[in-house]
Amino acid sequence: MNAPNQSGWKPSAPVSHDGAHEGPETVTGNRALMLEEPLIFEIATPDTTGVDLPQPADDISSRLGGLKRDQAIGLPGLSEPETVRHYTRLSRQNYAIDLGLFPLGSCTMKHNPRLNEKVARMPGFADVHPLQPVDTVRGALEVMNELAHWLITLTGMHGVAMSPKAGAHGELCGILCIRAALEARGDARKVVLVPESAHGTNPATAAFAGYEVEDIPATKDGRVDLEALKARLGPDVAGVMITNPNTCGLFERDMKAISDAVHEAGGFVYCDGANFNAIVGKVRPGDLGVDAMHINLHKTFSTPHGGGGPGSGPVVLSEALSPFAPLPYTARTKDGQVHLIEEEGANAFSNEHFGGSMQSFGRMTAFHGQMGMFTRALTYILSHGADGLKQVAEDAVLNANYVLRACEDVLFAPFADSGPCMHEALFGDKNFGGDLTTLDLAKGMIDEGYHPMTMYFPLVVHGAMLIEPTETESKAALDQFIMALRSVASRAKDGDESLKQSPYYAPRRRLDETQAARKPLLSWIDGDTA
Ligand SMILES: *Cc1c(COP(=O)(O)O)cnc(C)c1O
Repeated sequence: MNAPNQSGWKPSAPVSHDGAHEGPETVTGNRALMLEEPLIFEIATPDTTGVDLPQPADDISSRLGGLKRDQAIGLPGLSEPETVRHYTRLSRQNYAIDLGLFPLGSCTMKHNPRLNEKVARMPGFADVHPLQPVDTVRGALEVMNELAHWLITLTGMHGVAMSPKAGAHGELCGILCIRAALEARGDARKVVLVPESAHGTNPATAAFAGYEVEDIPATKDGRVDLEALKARLGPDVAGVMITNPNTCGLFERDMKAISDAVHEAGGFVYCDGANFNAIVGKVRPGDLGVDAMHINLHKTFSTPHGGGGPGSGPVVLSEALSPFAPLPYTARTKDGQVHLIEEEGANAFSNEHFGGSMQSFGRMTAFHGQMGMFTRALTYILSHGADGLKQVAEDAVLNANYVLRACEDVLFAPFADSGPCMHEALFGDKNFGGDLTTLDLAKGMIDEGYHPMTMYFPLVVHGAMLIEPTETESKAALDQFIMALRSVASRAKDGDESLKQSPYYAPRRRLDETQAARKPLLSWIDGDTA
């Protein structure tokens, strides 16, 4: 193995922290044990390698046909310890649920029990290949079928499609089921109604599936306007998409009346179930007349899901929609075995989930879904039990109300009079002084050691701040968070201009986020970004 590359990067100039610290600048740019880290291209040299492989034989080109590359590949070369340090240093600049409270609203960032991780890593689950002969993956199929059973039981629904790989993917699956059901009865309805308080993925999904999207207004107390919805229903409406609990953190109390009205008009009810964490064990969406609802396994039933993945979004379906579910699915036959149904016409099975007449709309994914998340979710469900899952919802709601009531005198709480919130507390920027904004408050929270809450969402509240503490935070952790939030909120209320410069203590100061989003610098060419 080559010696670690010692000749590499030297800092061209000390990193400036804009005088936020009293001490002298360091020559390394490091601050105590917080280490600066340049780009991997700046510390690596292409002719270095961490592995000791023999030179390929001369006749390699004949074996690659015309595909032999004619230039060096130009990848950064580092030894193994250098590589490990590079990524470990970068990871230390990241914030994580294992470091502290993650107040993001709508995201359900909760503790991921290590038991889940242990089970997901068992070789029989972790190492299965989707093309393995079915006889060698019977245990994995049992897990999928068992999880399907519990999702159906918890939601009071009839069937479930397990393969969608995220919440938004599940929404698409549910809407495609609705479309297939309408087509099967020769009914070409064109419009999907989406209330203002729905999640942004809902209108996007309906549009992606080829529907015209129409808004339904919210009432003053932050819920769907039932009368406005009823007035719009008609023979052109395929269905509604309702987020419940909604993105204002409120339970849609009229859900049953909404479902009844939509069904009467010949449409279907899609419920965005990403917020199921707040009602699991308390309410069964099937009892509220829901036809399709995705469940974000990575939220409600825990899986580490920062940075955009992995996700898993099974969709529970009503009796009317179950026959149209995507392939493949699992089914237990009378002999007690779980089978994998991969094609249409395999209906000879007495299928506990889909009844006899399968008219699948097709496939959502090449294979069967996210095995690692199925094992985590089932472990979570079984280790909590019925009483534990109910307590998840109760504690999540209690914690959110604790934050709401502890801060409503320093932060504007638009729906404070609409009764208790569900799993998330919603604030707005109405009482901020000077020209301070929600962004300034969020940056101030970074200095206090907290990842910011969800900002500027939902759109129905000006300068929205959405906080979902989840059930896994202790009272002590919430008290500390509230202390920090109250302090920064009071500064915002008083118009404290110093907030405009926050964060002072992060590895990087305030970035031009508009510029970064509009003109991202994504590649590095010879010492320059381009
Ligand atoms: C997270 C979320 C979604 C989307 O789920 P993904 O898994 O991120 O695709 C949809 N609706 C609501 C209310 C959500 O919170």
